[in-house]
Amino acid sequence: MENARGIGIMGGTFDPIHYGHLIIADEARQQFGLEKVVFVPAGQPPHKKEYKVSSAEHRYAMTVIATASHPDFICSRIEMDRAGPSYSIDTIREVRNAYPGYQVYFITGADAIAEILTWHEHARLKSLCKFIAATRPGYDLEELRHRLPADYVDQIVFLEVPGVYISSTELRERIATGRSIKFMVPEAVESYIAKNGLYKS
Ligand code: NAP
Repeated sequence: MENARGIGIMGGTFDPIHYGHLIIADEARQQFGLEKVVFVPAGQPPHKKEYKVSSAEHRYAMTVIATASHPDFICSRIEMDRAGPSYSIDTIREVRNAYPGYQVYFITGADAIAEILTWHEHARLKSLCKFIAATRPGYDLEELRHRLPADYVDQIVFLEVPGVYISSTELRERIATGRSIKFMVPEAVESYIAKNGLYKS
């Protein structure tokens, strides 16, 4: 598979999507020669959330708006349209079926990957794809490497994108407290959030 064509799955809740996500996806696309990056907003996140996640339709709409101008970015409703919890393994299987012969890369945050041992069918996951773990500057990669068994670490590549400190949590907090999110998300996403009154409280 080393010389196989590559396809990326950008998995996340995207509540909301921001420039950090877009920069990471494009950096992964370039570094790994991915033909397409498929953004897959999580439908019903299977893991516990400490806040009420916005509707999948809002998160999908923002993702479509944010990715529209990139020729190699596409968005998928597969997790939203699938009944039950959004398990990554089901998504990876669907993408493998849609792109036979491709090496699949699942791109997400390193903090999410750090919990991979709790994911559904995690032992099978690592034989189906490679993982690209995106980190923010200052992230302790060694801690993550020691935390996971070697056969998982072998399937993970780490991608540090310098200067990207934006997080969805911070964006939600900024909106709830009336602060600006200008230049942190695409302008059309900012308008969508305002128009729909998202993250106000
Ligand atoms: P999360 O726990 O909300 O996020 C953890 C960290 O990763 C946050 O700092 C987050 O920053 C960052 N992050 C999330 N997605 C990212 C991305 N695509 N690129 C860069 N950074 C990202 O994680 P989540 O969004 O809910 O889940 C991430 C992915 O893992 C989803 O596709 C989810 O379905 C999958 N997952 C699957 C299972 C399972 O199959 N059982 C369990 C857990 C997670 P931001 O908040 O700024 O995005």
